[in-house]
Amino acid sequence: MSGRDQTYDLFIIGGGINGCGIARDAAGRGYSVYLAEMNDLASGTSSLSTKLVHGGLRYLEFYEFRLVREALEERELLWSNAPHIIWPLRFVLPHHKGLRPAWLLRLGLFLYDHIGGRKRLPATKTLDLTKEEVGAGLNPDLKKGFEYSDCWVDDARLVVLNARDAADRSAVIRTRSQVTDVRWESGCWHVDVYDTLNGSTQTVQARMIVNASGPWVDRVISAASGSNAARKVRLVQGSHIVVPRLFDHDRCYIFQNEDGRICFAIPYENDYTLIGTTDQDFEGDPATARTSDKEITYLCGAISSYLRKPVTPDDVVWTYSGVRPLFDDGASAAQEATRDYVLKLQEDGPGGPWLNIFGGKITTYRRLAESALEKINAALGGRPGPAWTHAAPLPGGDFPATGVKTLAAEISSRYPFLESATVHRLVRLYGTRTYSVLGDAGSKEDLGRVFGRDLSEAEIKYLIRHEWALTEDDVLWRRTKLGLGMSEEDVTALADYMQDKTAIQ
Ligand code: FAD
Repeated sequence: MSGRDQTYDLFIIGGGINGCGIARDAAGRGYSVYLAEMNDLASGTSSLSTKLVHGGLRYLEFYEFRLVREALEERELLWSNAPHIIWPLRFVLPHHKGLRPAWLLRLGLFLYDHIGGRKRLPATKTLDLTKEEVGAGLNPDLKKGFEYSDCWVDDARLVVLNARDAADRSAVIRTRSQVTDVRWESGCWHVDVYDTLNGSTQTVQARMIVNASGPWVDRVISAASGSNAARKVRLVQGSHIVVPRLFDHDRCYIFQNEDGRICFAIPYENDYTLIGTTDQDFEGDPATARTSDKEITYLCGAISSYLRKPVTPDDVVWTYSGVRPLFDDGASAAQEATRDYVLKLQEDGPGGPWLNIFGGKITTYRRLAESALEKINAALGGRPGPAWTHAAPLPGGDFPATGVKTLAAEISSRYPFLESATVHRLVRLYGTRTYSVLGDAGSKEDLGRVFGRDLSEAEIKYLIRHEWALTEDDVLWRRTKLGLGMSEEDVTALADYMQDKTAIQ
């Protein structure tokens, strides 16, 4: 059914990982879905994470066994379903005398290896840092460490691929569409959606609301008429810094800080190291969170105490800051607040069913969506299809998890004029959909204009047509990370190109 008078089964507020994950799952089960995102997909917290698909070793200390088990189970499953944007990493955890004792680290890692059904990822091993390559750049006082497995994810692309798959299954996905009012009238929800590009407002009807607006969740509840305005989300800011590559190998580090927190140093975009994160309570509009000088100094200090050569604020080439939408469980310190998700169905009140999503991790988004669907099924009745996302590749991920090199070789042979670094980059973003990006190009010239680095017109057109990209930031910071190292002239040229409506037809 289509048209202005359609009543959708679900109206989802928010195009972060949770909104898009729920949209995909619901659309695949036969529900009609409308998702509105006020900015770009993944423009909230979901592009600003540490980008780990991980159990969260640290959460064991807070007895979050349910969360850690579920997250660990998801690691290999998500890797299988999206091997282009998710891949294994090895983490080096040095033992620091005076902080957590070695027996405790060993116990935590034993649990980490065994409670989550690990099958393909390699197990933990003990390291002699005086002999191993990974010890070379470290403070010589560090003699011993451990190495364990987790996975990396391109967080923003995970969101977009969920949205793409949802749309391929008939969900309506609208970006730059802000929900300004929600009312229950004549037996269904009426949602006012403000188009931030052309200034018009459209009213959409739906049987059920899913509020997946992440750190804005309380604001949306308060703004909606007749709803409960109780404060349930705890906003915790976390910042990252990016510096030129610190290590010659591909391993990551997890360092313990003296304040009980931990800090990651992760190889990033070939030429960089990503360092994070902080935890501090946040007030105000989440869109305004920025990395402070204090956080930069803290992160540089935390990592430098482990290194032979310190990292200073002058080394920092980029920073980003996100706001965790944690369920407020009353924990005193921000770092102790639960990372688990909580779904609250609001059925009392004058309106129909309304589901609020609190907390959650990128890692557990698929399970969160399944839990949401249980509540949606119960609220809407009918005969929805069964759970299905556990065995369904995301767009471009329909190749074996260990087959990235094979896919890259196939692309290189089909498009011999591409440099291997470009092939690698495209395969890591688009997987098998690289063929759709490149089409029947027979030469570099066929890919059109180049906008700095190896960003071609063909790629931009693909992002506009299939991935809702509208601005240069959408392309440079969320669909790709080509913004790192792009010149100002190239950014301006890209912005002009994207504004030119005729160029994108
Ligand atoms: P968001 O991504 O914020 O999405 C909500 C969306 O709702 C936003 O895009 C917003 O624009 C939109 N919205 C709000 N109001 C409206 C409205 N009125 N109308 C329309 N749209 C609206 N998790 C991991 O698994 N691994 C990690 O390594 C990890 N690291 C993290 C590090 C940091 C510093 C932070 C902050 C989080 C980290 N997380 C990690 C957690 C994870 O990033 C978040 O839990 C997750 O991204 C939250 O997704 P979301 O969809 O709920 O929220």
